[in-house]
Amino acid sequence: MARVYKFGGASVKDANGIRNVERIVRLALNEQSPITNHQSDGLMVVISAMGKTTNALERVVEYLAAGQEEQALSQWVDVIDHHVAIMKELGLQPGVDIRLQGEIPYDPTKPFDENYDQVVSMGEIMSTQIIAVYLLKRGLSVEWWNMPKLLRTDDTWREARVDNEVSAKIIRAGWDRPNRPAVVIAQGFIGGTGDGRRTTLGREGSDYTAALLGNYIDADSVTIWKDVPGILNADPRIEPNTVLIPSLRYQDAVELSYSGAQVIHPKTIKPLENKQIPLFVKPFDDPAAAGSRISADGTGPIDIPVYIWRKNQILITMRAKDFGFVLEESLSEIFDIIHRHRLKVSLIQSSAVTISVSVDNTRFVPDAIEELKKHFNVSYNDHLSLLTIRGTTPEIVEQAKAGRTIMLSQTTRRTARLVVAEKEN
Ligand code: ASP
Ligand code: MG
Repeated sequence: MARVYKFGGASVKDANGIRNVERIVRLALNEQSPITNHQSDGLMVVISAMGKTTNALERVVEYLAAGQEEQALSQWVDVIDHHVAIMKELGLQPGVDIRLQGEIPYDPTKPFDENYDQVVSMGEIMSTQIIAVYLLKRGLSVEWWNMPKLLRTDDTWREARVDNEVSAKIIRAGWDRPNRPAVVIAQGFIGGTGDGRRTTLGREGSDYTAALLGNYIDADSVTIWKDVPGILNADPRIEPNTVLIPSLRYQDAVELSYSGAQVIHPKTIKPLENKQIPLFVKPFDDPAAAGSRISADGTGPIDIPVYIWRKNQILITMRAKDFGFVLEESLSEIFDIIHRHRLKVSLIQSSAVTISVSVDNTRFVPDAIEELKKHFNVSYNDHLSLLTIRGTTPEIVEQAKAGRTIMLSQTTRRTARLVVAEKEN
């Protein structure tokens, strides 16, 4: 049986991280599957760009689009130099073992979003090239996969939609080959249109890639290696006392990630649930630890409140312009606009004459507000966060509200959702 491992940017941010990947890969090849008790017959390793490379590459495209070529080039050279330094530290010879992309893959005649995908995808290409060659040199049986040729998507740049039928066929064929090396190194987050152009699946999309690959190859499990012990009941950067949730149902995991929990990308669960493949979230600095297990028969969270922050929210309130206001008609109009502008809704509230929605404050919001203004009196507040507390009690809600500016709150018996003004620093 096969397994899928995913390593994010934090786990491969430097040479030591990559050595640790080697250690974890070797453990996987030598141990039996926890699900089937069979020896592994293949490990699909999905890898993100190193550290903060994706952010740096975003700046490269932004500079170029703004005509600031010098800044773009110096930022690009920084990225390349950083990768070269890591290669050297790993004992690899730049230019001999790996030839990194020299020029910025940017075409000024093409739209911004298309260029974005060509440039930003280089982060994953470089990280996987380096790691694949390193593992090969260390004596492992390894193959590097070029996902832009294997994971087929449409050309919705920066948020490409995957063609599962075509992709599954291509990937299965590659995976089921008789003499395939034991370890396959693949990029997360990126795919391709089939005519040579690279696409990206949306920021933090590598988990989603891992889930898709797990689904296509019928993996017996998928493991996401993280810099946290597993899924916690709160963000350790915000709450001082956190508790590990050892076992979780798919549905609860979807809800947690949709509410804003950063541990897994919201799109990760569905492809796994469809094939009942368990998902493990484990700490990369302690591979023997149990971590969290997400599956159909998960048990938790039990009796502990779970705090989830979804940051960077904007609360948009639409008020009727006239007395002919019909809630149902307005709802369908509003959601049509929201859907067409690709807004991501986190909460909805309505009264007799107003409708409020909290959405992620993305680059699509200004145009959507312009269109909403044609039909409604629109007001909005930004610099907000949505705090969801699951398994809550009235006392816990009161504690959470204390000292915070609450713009809106929705509570049911076990769940509270508060739209909170971000604290000013
Ligand atoms: N490297 C991409 C990002 O930072 C994808 C990922 O990390 O999942 O958004
Ligand atoms: Mg990343």
